[in-house]
Amino acid sequence: MASSTEVETIKARLNLVEVIGGYVRLQRAGREYRGLCPFHKERSPSFYVNPEKQLWNCHGCQLGGDLIKFVELIDHTDFRGALEELAKRAGVELSPLEQMSPAQRRQVRLRESSLRLNQMAADFYHEVLLHHQAGAPGRQFLQERSVTAEDIAAFHLGYAPQGSRRDNLVRYLVKRQATSEEIVAAGLADARQGLTDFFRRRLVIPIRDERQRWVGFGGRGLGDDQPKYLNTRSTSLFDKSRVLFGMDRAVAAIGRERRVVLMEGYFDVIGAHRSGVATAVSTSGTALTETQVLLLRRVADEVVLCFDGDPAGQRAARRAIDLFGGAGLNCRLVLLPDGVDPDDLSRTAPDQLRRMLDEAPPAWEVLIDQALGDSSSQSGSQRQEALRRCMAILAKIPEASIRELYAERVGRRLGLAHARILEDVESGAKGPAGGPGLEVARAGKGAMGASAHLLGLLSGRPELTPEVRDRYQVTRGDFPDKEDGELYAVICEALPGRPDPDALPPNLAQRLAEVEGGELPELEEPTGSPRLQRALEDCVRSIRVEVAGATVADLQRRLAGLGHHRAGSSPALVAEIDSVRRRIEQLRRGDGLES
Ligand SMILES: [Zn+2]
Repeated sequence: MASSTEVETIKARLNLVEVIGGYVRLQRAGREYRGLCPFHKERSPSFYVNPEKQLWNCHGCQLGGDLIKFVELIDHTDFRGALEELAKRAGVELSPLEQMSPAQRRQVRLRESSLRLNQMAADFYHEVLLHHQAGAPGRQFLQERSVTAEDIAAFHLGYAPQGSRRDNLVRYLVKRQATSEEIVAAGLADARQGLTDFFRRRLVIPIRDERQRWVGFGGRGLGDDQPKYLNTRSTSLFDKSRVLFGMDRAVAAIGRERRVVLMEGYFDVIGAHRSGVATAVSTSGTALTETQVLLLRRVADEVVLCFDGDPAGQRAARRAIDLFGGAGLNCRLVLLPDGVDPDDLSRTAPDQLRRMLDEAPPAWEVLIDQALGDSSSQSGSQRQEALRRCMAILAKIPEASIRELYAERVGRRLGLAHARILEDVESGAKGPAGGPGLEVARAGKGAMGASAHLLGLLSGRPELTPEVRDRYQVTRGDFPDKEDGELYAVICEALPGRPDPDALPPNLAQRLAEVEGGELPELEEPTGSPRLQRALEDCVRSIRVEVAGATVADLQRRLAGLGHHRAGSSPALVAEIDSVRRRIEQLRRGDGLES
């Protein structure tokens, strides 16, 4: 660990208000500074920085601490990672890694090697795309999409080949002194029959974060290859719930304009930048997350959504509007006509794309007008349907004054008194309008498999059970399903052997047969193999995320039950939800398993 004098020097040389001010817009409030908390969604500031004490804290989510804690949380890193970042800024030389514990040292080394390997891999893919016979399919794909040589250079696009071999990148990296452990830790290869390249026969799009670090890749399959998009799996650097493509190039312009353009795909963003829209970013082919929203709120006050007009694009837009609106960002929306995507527009009419984004109407207006439809020619029941759709949208508008504004619009169009509409919206707001927790539904589905997977592994390899029980402290109560918990207890009791199915109650015997019959390729691995270890960890993590997700859903239901006043109904519950969510994020990042 760094010496305490080093920490003190760093703290003394850096100004807490200045460092935090780089992430949060702070305003003076007496002796303190105040701003919107970057760690939880809020609309009025409860995040305080005290320059005298050199401490910060949030009254909303109860987080707080010193400078290093702040950087740890905001950069999703650990103590050492935060310290290194701050040491660089303060011009302080940290003492060598040897003073850290072996586990810390390993973590730091692997993070550093992952950054280095990602950059080497990006160069390799780029070189293949530009100059090698093996890159021809990639070149053809890009040519068909009119991606220019300038785009390829600017975004450092590449191609992951697959000739007769499945380890082209691996051999390239090994030749440059990378170890197998480092290559696997960076997510660039799977440990399968030796090492196999993770990306093969794909166009590869490097993803750099807002600090210009090479964190991972998006891979686009050519032709009918499935999946169409494949991202780097979760590593110490790559967290797809956090990463935004284009952020490295857009962050400066976003900071200047305090505005961000959020699009749907990699090629939309590439086209937008080519057309002069310097603030464009996208998610990595996944649904927008709250973490991404909070990241954007640090740099922008307004977001312009530019989505496809098809039903999937509309759904994505509604979800994004809810998330951004809830975080207090001003939201505008461009829904492109069916069949037109931003990538097409950037090629055929870049001026039009820029104008559409500049003149984008407020998101609520677009949604309300869409819900109203062509009300002049509607029958009574159609108008009633339209009203219901509008009310569902109105119920989601957080600001009362803006809600009233749009209620007036609806009233005018449908010939109703807007006060009455508002009354109905406010009394029924917690009804059908309150959206279900998407996140939770998803977690539940994926993780059912995780319990079965884990139980299958333990039943097939009883010697792994003590590790799961003692190191990860998994108990029967940790399983989302009671029966699975009982089966786990039976497996533990049977140690060092396996449970005897004939001695089990019929329901458990059947469940045991089910989990043993699942696909468990890891069982072929020798004890202690990284792949087996990873499978165990992934299972435990998924189970924990599922249980935490259910807790969030439960707390949200309790919160909803407290009444339909959205803000401040129960700070304790809100804080609890935030804390469970942070735990989920921590788990997804790969931390906090051994507790
Ligand atoms: Zn907070």
